[in-house]
Order: sequence, then structure tokens, then C-alpha cells
Amino acid sequence: MSHCKKPILVTGGAGYIGAHACKALATAGFTPVAYDNLVYGHRQAVKWGPLEEGDIGDRERLEAVLHKYDPAAVMHFAAYAYVGESVENPAKYYRNNVAGSLTLLESMRSCGIDKIIFSSTCATYGMPEQIPIAEDHPQNPINPYGRSKLVVEWILQDFAKAYGLNFVSLRYFNAAGADPDAEIGEKHDPETHLIPLVLDVALGERGHLDIYGTDYDTADGTCIRDYIHVTDLADAHLLALKYLLDGGQSDVFNMGNGNGFSVREVITTVSRITNCEITCVESDRRAGDPPILIGSSDKIRKILRWRATYKSLEAIIRTAWRWHKK
Ligand code: UDP
Repeated sequence: MSHCKKPILVTGGAGYIGAHACKALATAGFTPVAYDNLVYGHRQAVKWGPLEEGDIGDRERLEAVLHKYDPAAVMHFAAYAYVGESVENPAKYYRNNVAGSLTLLESMRSCGIDKIIFSSTCATYGMPEQIPIAEDHPQNPINPYGRSKLVVEWILQDFAKAYGLNFVSLRYFNAAGADPDAEIGEKHDPETHLIPLVLDVALGERGHLDIYGTDYDTADGTCIRDYIHVTDLADAHLLALKYLLDGGQSDVFNMGNGNGFSVREVITTVSRITNCEITCVESDRRAGDPPILIGSSDKIRKILRWRATYKSLEAIIRTAWRWHKK
């Protein structure tokens, strides 16, 4: 079956992961149509297809764009994703992430589009009871961000049963790195993510890095996370899309590497790659941080035949550094 030049609507296509997915789609012969309100997205990150400015809460605008392109499927990245902010301002998160997703799904339904790939998160699991975390691990999110994503997972399941929607939810662990050609990369404002913050310190754009907690029950006392390269993540979206286009059943997959790295390992690796001393301040734990988050990627390997290209922290950080320097 040929998927040539089929349009795919990419909500949040001007954001970090969405833009990488647009590149992967274009490389595979699809036309990525980025739909983004540019609140956190970057206009200059949209390079592989048209940009349609709009909000996922705006049904009229969404339906106009869906009619214009008649996409074969939707990749839904658009969301607010600051855990701390979600605790301070849950209304913003439920309004955008939950109500916005519902509006998107209703628009798709009224336009006869029945395939969606949804960006979910390991934050839907909450505090892990077992490591590595598999897809059947209980979901008990501990903040409004994680809850907003879990509610959308439920809506997808209900829409699948009632209306025949076909979905793949991908539960991301820690997305990291940048496009290997350094055309796009990670830039959040404000920046809260570990790797870009450490790279800022290496560049001299930030005085020091706060290490949030050095008394965890881990080998070096700092938190362990599963960092997955954004290009590997984008490839997984492409596999999920082809799976749905070929008639695959709705399903949920973790998107992790199966490897964990501590905050100190990230710092040491950045220091080695950049040849810079990283000034660190040992600070208090950040509220709501589990000591260890590592995802099992067995299911996605088996069913979608996904494989990570960037397995080492070193390989991931090298791509991030190349882009960051630009
Ligand atoms: N972290 C840190 N200092 C920072 C930012 C993050 O020590 O300035 C730690 C954080 O506590 C977590 C890990 O780095 O253990 C990854 O955090 P990030 O915010 O990048 O991703 P999260 O795991 O929260 O999704």
C-alpha cells in the first residue's frame, strides 16, 4: 500500500517533538500539516510542510483545516507540559489538554477522520511500583499534567468503542537530543529540562545547575531517568501511523529506551562532550520527582518493530550539543 504524499495533521507541529515528527513524515513521503497556536511553538521549526495557525480548542478553525487537507490521520502533540505549572494552574491544563483534545476528536469525527496518534506520558503512571515500567503498570498520576493526559487516554478508548476511532497512545519517557542535521532542537521558554539546562551552563548562558536531590536511594544519590532520542521518538510515530493505516488495532505503547541514567551521569557526559566544567549546586528535591523512571520498550519493539538508533547517553547528548551551539 502506498502512503505517498498523504497529508497528516500534526497538532503542535511547531513544538519540539512535533517538529521532529514533521521531518520524519516528510522524509517518509507524507505531507505534514503543522497545526499550532505558536504559544510555545516556533514558527521557524515548521520546515517540511504548511503551517496552519490555530488552537486545538477552536472547532471552527480545526474543521476548516481538516476540510482543506482531508488528512489520512492526526498526530496530536499539542499540549501544555509543565508539571509545576499544572499544579499551580490546573484549569489551564484541563482546558487545553483535555477539553482541547476533546474538541479535536469531535472535529475529526465530524470530518470522517478516524486515526490518531496521541502523545501520552510516563507521568500517567505516577510513582512506579515496579521498574522497568510496562504498559500494564497501574496508572495513578500524581499531578494535573499526568491526569490531563490520562483522561485523554480514556476518552480515546471510549471513542474507539463507541465511534470506531483508531488510536495509538505513546507514553513518552524523557525525550531528549536534537535532529542529527541540527535543523531543529529543544528550546522551551522557560526551560526546565535537565539536558538543555546543563548545556546552557556549558555555554556560559547559565551560571550553575541545581541538582534537585542528592539523597535518593540510587547509586549516586540523584534521580534516574530514561532518556529517549527525539528522532527515535519521531520514528516510532511513523511506525504507529503505518500500523494504523494498515488496519492495526488501537493500542498503547511505552516510548523509552529501557536504560536509566542519573542526573550526575548526564552532567559528567555533558562535561566530557563539551570540554567544560559544569558548576553544580546541590539543592533540595523537586516535589513529585520519583527516584527512578525507566520504561520497558518490549511491547513497541515486538509489535511495531521499533528500534532505538541512539542507545547511549553520549550519542543523545552529542546531537543536543551540536544544535545547542547553533
Ligand atoms: N533536574 C535537576 N535539575 C534541573 C532540572 C532537572 O536536577 O535543573 C532533574 C530532575 O529532578 C529529574 C531529572 O533531572 O530527576 C530530569 O528532569 P526533567 O525536568 O528534564 O524531566 P522530567 O523527568 O521531570 O520529565
